[in-house]
Amino acid sequence: MTQPRLLTGDRPTGKLHLGHYVGSLENRVRLQHRYECFFLVADLHMLTTKNSKEDILESAENARHLVLDSLAAGIEPERATFYVQSAIPEVCEINTFFQNLTTVPRLERIPSLKEMARDARKEEMPYGLLGYPVLQAADILCVRAHVVPVGKDNASHVEVTREIARRFNGLYGDAGEVFPIPELIIGDVPTLVGTDGQAKMSKSIGNTIFLSDDEATVRKKVSGMYTDPARIRADIPGTVEGNPVFIYHDAFNPDRAEVDDLKRRYREGTVGDVEVKQRLAEAINAFLAPMRERRAAYEADRGYVDTLLVEGTARTREEVVATVRLMRSAMGLNTSWNRIRRRAEERAKKVAS
Ligand code: ATP
Ligand code: MG
Repeated sequence: MTQPRLLTGDRPTGKLHLGHYVGSLENRVRLQHRYECFFLVADLHMLTTKNSKEDILESAENARHLVLDSLAAGIEPERATFYVQSAIPEVCEINTFFQNLTTVPRLERIPSLKEMARDARKEEMPYGLLGYPVLQAADILCVRAHVVPVGKDNASHVEVTREIARRFNGLYGDAGEVFPIPELIIGDVPTLVGTDGQAKMSKSIGNTIFLSDDEATVRKKVSGMYTDPARIRADIPGTVEGNPVFIYHDAFNPDRAEVDDLKRRYREGTVGDVEVKQRLAEAINAFLAPMRERRAAYEADRGYVDTLLVEGTARTREEVVATVRLMRSAMGLNTSWNRIRRRAEERAKKVAS
């Protein structure tokens, strides 16, 4: 029986953190048995904001971390297909077709792209960054995915994918739908705040707790967290709403009674920040403990992650080649040019031999 498909991914710019977990990874783990899952290492997307030679050379090591973090979080390797975006050139071909199915003003209205340009200290919008959601549409639709679990910052991008899929089907799909219209699945915490209280936990800001952090690092990061700035002493009543420490307690501390008690005492001014943070560090460490164990086991098996990436990329490429064939045929590119293409290919072969 064929299952519906799920696709999502991450840019290979570092390790996965708690924001990635609540935004997307948790849903990947939860849904992996219901869908055939494709997880991409989005190294072409990385180039939209980070394209120095050093960044590119680091991406392979970062890709290994992404896979290890995913396995540590509970993704089952025998079910998942991990692949490298830049190793599938047909994705760029699909991107080129899709570029004609949306407009510059449509893309310019997406707020997250402006934020990304600002965070990357770009004075003007790079052409590739403006096209980020179009390339993302190529990723999602290259395997004809049905669902896309992502964080909230990505929701407006997936909307572009849905529009492009509809437009492609409308323009060329006279023999039926070429692409399903993929559904967006947002995490329980749509955007996790950073440890510094800034809107988003993000590698580029440096306000993260990584899934692979050890116990002492977690304790140190939590003890330095931003809380209610008006609360300069433990006997001053504090604000719980929007306070990062309590947002994290809600997200990662399964002991509801403890969390409710801490909130009550915080509002009354009968508990210190130190205790609230100590309990939080314990909760996060307990949450990460099984991940650390699984990560160590997979890490010990050298070469395993590379094998997963090789097999996953080969498997995905087959799917993408099939999608391109469908697209070309739906668009009429085959009918008009196949004879010429075939003859040109034969000619090239002759010249090579
Ligand atoms: P960072 O901002 O840390 O560099 P990123 O935004 O580059 O991370 P991506 O590879 O773009 O990471 O995103 C991977 C997935 O994780 C996306 O679905 C994104 O929405 C989600 N995500 C990233 N940060 C958060 C967060 N703080 N809260 C919720 N979801 C997040
Ligand atoms: Mg992002």
